[in-house]
Amino acid sequence: MSDLTELYQDLIRDHSKKPRNFREIEGEPRKLEGYNPLCGDRFTVYLDLDGDVIKDISFKGSGCAISTASASMMTQALKGKSRAEAERLFKDFRELLTTDDAQAGEAELGKLMVFSGVRKFPIRVKCATLAWHTVDAALHGEGKIVSTEE
Ligand code: ZN
Repeated sequence: MSDLTELYQDLIRDHSKKPRNFREIEGEPRKLEGYNPLCGDRFTVYLDLDGDVIKDISFKGSGCAISTASASMMTQALKGKSRAEAERLFKDFRELLTTDDAQAGEAELGKLMVFSGVRKFPIRVKCATLAWHTVDAALHGEGKIVSTEE
């Protein structure tokens, strides 16, 4: 298990230092800002939708290692997914972070399983889900800033 934990930590470290899809999207993407005042994480997510499909997704901003790595891995996981698939993945991801024996969606979550350890730190759950909440709100066309504290 400690090998696995190390692997997980490596992956989170890698994505927090070299976030993927860390850029803006040209043109007129759907974009929305998310903010987690408890930690100071602040990201803007960009979505290029083709009908119901996420053709491109990216983010910019700054945050802690967990929030940055989660946003980075989220963009990889959601690119090419339909709105319904994205919503299901977010639901599975949230369950992974909040439910002790979450088994649902493990196969689909894939690398996102690295965040299962975050469940022990409730404050960190907000870091890990910030970008996801923001994308979820953007998909639903909500224009206001997303805050983890409402
Ligand atoms: Zn954070």
